[in-house]
Amino acid sequence: MSKDANVQGSMTKPPKQGWLYAPSPEATDNVRLAPRYELFVDGKFSAPASGKYFPTVNPSTETVIAEVADANEADVDRAVTAARRAYEQVWSKMPGKERGKYVYRIARRIQERARELAIVESLDGGKPIKESRDVDVPLAAAHFFYYAGWADKLDYALPGRRARSLGVAGQVIPWNFPLLMAAWKLAPALACGNTVVLKPAETTPLTALLLAQIIQECDLPPGVVNIVTGAGPTGAALVGHPGVDKVAFTGSTDVGKRIQRALAGTSKRLTLELGGKAANVVFADAAIDQAVEGIVNGIYFNQGHVCCAGSRLLVEESIHDVIVRKLKRRIEHLRVGDPLDKNTDVGAINSKEQLQKIRMLVESGVSEGCSIHQSHARLPGRGYFFAPTFFTGVSQSHRIAQEEIFGPVLSVLTFRTPEEAVEKANNTVYGLSAGIWTDKAAKVFWMSRRLRAGVVWGNTFNKFDPTSPFGGFKESGFGREGGAAGLLPYLEAV
Ligand code: NAP
Ligand code: MG
Repeated sequence: MSKDANVQGSMTKPPKQGWLYAPSPEATDNVRLAPRYELFVDGKFSAPASGKYFPTVNPSTETVIAEVADANEADVDRAVTAARRAYEQVWSKMPGKERGKYVYRIARRIQERARELAIVESLDGGKPIKESRDVDVPLAAAHFFYYAGWADKLDYALPGRRARSLGVAGQVIPWNFPLLMAAWKLAPALACGNTVVLKPAETTPLTALLLAQIIQECDLPPGVVNIVTGAGPTGAALVGHPGVDKVAFTGSTDVGKRIQRALAGTSKRLTLELGGKAANVVFADAAIDQAVEGIVNGIYFNQGHVCCAGSRLLVEESIHDVIVRKLKRRIEHLRVGDPLDKNTDVGAINSKEQLQKIRMLVESGVSEGCSIHQSHARLPGRGYFFAPTFFTGVSQSHRIAQEEIFGPVLSVLTFRTPEEAVEKANNTVYGLSAGIWTDKAAKVFWMSRRLRAGVVWGNTFNKFDPTSPFGGFKESGFGREGGAAGLLPYLEAV
């Protein structure tokens, strides 16, 4: 039993010694991080008004990587003022064709600096290098490429109407996909002719600051993009600033609701991308081994720090035992450890607070009587790590079936009929995503019409593409990011 499972429950025996992989660390010699990062306002890096800085930590070693400026209300005001000036004097007047070239240039420069961005993403956030290298960074570039193409075609997004930009967008993002979330926010806003003030999460500010360097290198007019770092109060100052016309927020449902309350009665436009508790539904006629890979990818990818993670497994009763047996074996082979090792499947939990939250919810699962199954992976002595875990004997009322754990922890429930699967899948306050595994395409369509989820994957999971819209139902938020639908929150039809 790993040191994180200070709990009781049925555990598998440690596996026989399997393959051992020699360490394969990513070389970091092309990465030069500064000891200190300033705010990016009006095209320049400048010190915060308060003179205060906060540390950003590498969660796999618990060491400080750099210190980062803590923006207060005065800094946010300076950034919004710069964004307003850039909007009125330059960006809103520029033909879409010209704006598109800048957005395209950002995409190219992300590709050129891809290796460095991937390493810094893994250092600052704890995700395995193979994910930051193969998923986060290429997808971030793809978003800028995709929306660059829209910049001179916006009227086609609104048939029969003309498209007009909104003004200054205030955007706040979380720590689970720091660069990718910045791309999801910036690319459509810029393509549509808005200017931006972006606040990255406190624990993962570094790739957004490298993106600020990229924006400088691409010669964007000063003030078109401003990046202010800080914690919750910086985000609150940004969304509450009267000079902001549109707020886009990705993060927890709690903070999303707080922002919704703060904006009530104002003319600001709002989109929210919030939490999730996705059901991954496996029918008895599914290709079992592929489904097991999909389940593993759905919950252990990025340590389960994924809003659309398949954190509830709904499995048809007749195949419950075989799926559980295969899952137990499969999680023993997940390599947990150094995010910069190219072999690592499960990296570090993003912060100490998040690790504590995962432990607390896992303990609640055990105390509510669920059976825990946990990988015997040897966890590194330092850093924030949690072994891949799943629970059986879970019922819908258990906390682990209702609350977002945001860690590598899966709850297994069963169903007997498709109707019961739909009812259980929809029995949550969230509605961000779902997965369906079956041999019958008709069943995928039947289910996907009934599932109250923004994204439904069929015989796959966690697949993203810039052309495809993403967003929630119910308390998972509203508004879409990606695809043509992702333009609408940044446009007005006239
Ligand atoms: P969070 O605590 O809500 O933080 C998100 C961002 O909001 C951070 O930049 C945070 O700053 C800032 N913030 C905190 N309090 C604020 C306030 N009062 N006003 C304005 N901004 C404020 O969420 P998190 O823990 O970082 O992220 C995890 C959550 O994000 C999960 O619930 C996950 O499901 C959700 N998520 C959703 C999507 C989606 O597309 N639906 C995607 C990714 C993540 P600090 O970092 O300094 O606290
Ligand atoms: Mg960090």
